Amino acid sequence: GTGLRDVDVAGDPAYRITIGPGLLDDGARLTSALRGRHALIVSDSNVAPLYADRLEAMLRSARPNLSIARFELPAGEHEKTLSRFGDCLDALARLGATRDACVFALGGGVVGDLAGFAASCWMRGIDIVQVPTTLLAMVDSSVGGKTAVDLPAGKNLVGAFHPPRAVVADTAMLRTLPDRELRAGLAEVVKYGAIFDAGFLEWLEANRVALLERDDAALAEAIARSCRYKADVVARDPFERGERALLNFGHTFGHAIEAEQGYAGSADGLNHGEAVAVGMVLAARLSARLGLAPRADAERLQHLLTAFGLPVEVPAGLSPDALLARMRLDKKAAADGLRFILWDGAGQARVVAGVDEAQVLAV
Ligand code: NAD
Ligand code: ZN
Repeated sequence: GTGLRDVDVAGDPAYRITIGPGLLDDGARLTSALRGRHALIVSDSNVAPLYADRLEAMLRSARPNLSIARFELPAGEHEKTLSRFGDCLDALARLGATRDACVFALGGGVVGDLAGFAASCWMRGIDIVQVPTTLLAMVDSSVGGKTAVDLPAGKNLVGAFHPPRAVVADTAMLRTLPDRELRAGLAEVVKYGAIFDAGFLEWLEANRVALLERDDAALAEAIARSCRYKADVVARDPFERGERALLNFGHTFGHAIEAEQGYAGSADGLNHGEAVAVGMVLAARLSARLGLAPRADAERLQHLLTAFGLPVEVPAGLSPDALLARMRLDKKAAADGLRFILWDGAGQARVVAGVDEAQVLAV
């Protein structure tokens, strides 16, 4: 067949995620949610030169009367700021965007989060179509409606819940993604298996070569299954009052590592997916140490992540005490002490509060 997959996401609004190769050339699908005469394409300085002309051409051919403008960010997490958010709103103003305008977020999670937040605020909320271009954005940030920018005081401190009208994930765009970014996305894919479905972990073990070779069918399957897991949990708990917190598996440790190294995300520091890979292994080891989960499951998770080229140990030079201090400040930490997503075993996660700090230091 066409190799396309759909995942329907419940909620208000409900929307459809379409996944597969060649979708960037599917003008009808890209414009299916379009209601007005204005479109703003938001992208970054790496992605725009590769794909923005094609997206714009597709929009134009599907809707000849559309007024289209572009807003391009310099690439990188450090651009996910209130100041760039303001620039994006200015671009909507210059376009003369009305309440029925639509934003197209063409890029990774940085573009998706910033464009989504701008769309949530322009005239108190306009449509956004997410066109994710990183694996992480396809399996995580474009799904679920969270949008945000960073402040000097911390990541994602300002934002809104603003679900997209549609998500169009063209797996062919992943061919240009740097290897390291692909692996970071695979860490989040592994996370879904780790918290929801041990069978998916087996599937990932069996398909690891195809995934690393960027086989379209394997990628589309992994993305569709990941989106399904996330969409289901978000539908049950849209505002993260309970179960959605399971998606933070590996993230308490991971965020501490990222914060301690100063969100390097560069050559020397771990990026988010890498930090989460380490964090998941530590969470699994902690679960085993507390007698909640089999040690063999933690080892198996570690092997899978290693096979994907991901790190599984805290980087040398980061002190456990400093990481622990960071975890005490985590915005998800509860009044009742350190809170972790732990395992009852592969595929079965739950929130555990009041975890003993000595056990955390031990792993
Ligand atoms: P990113 O957007 O910075 O993209 C990573 C790098 O890849 C960038 O340099 C980008 O220019 C480049 N790139 C993107 N697509 C490419 C392609 N197809 N070919 C070549 N280069 C390409 O990072 P990311 O990992 O996609 O997203 C991280 C962000 O997502 C963080 O800010 C994080 O907070 C956010 N996030 C949000 C949610 C949510 O629910 N909203 C969930 C997870 C992460
Ligand atoms: Zn994450």
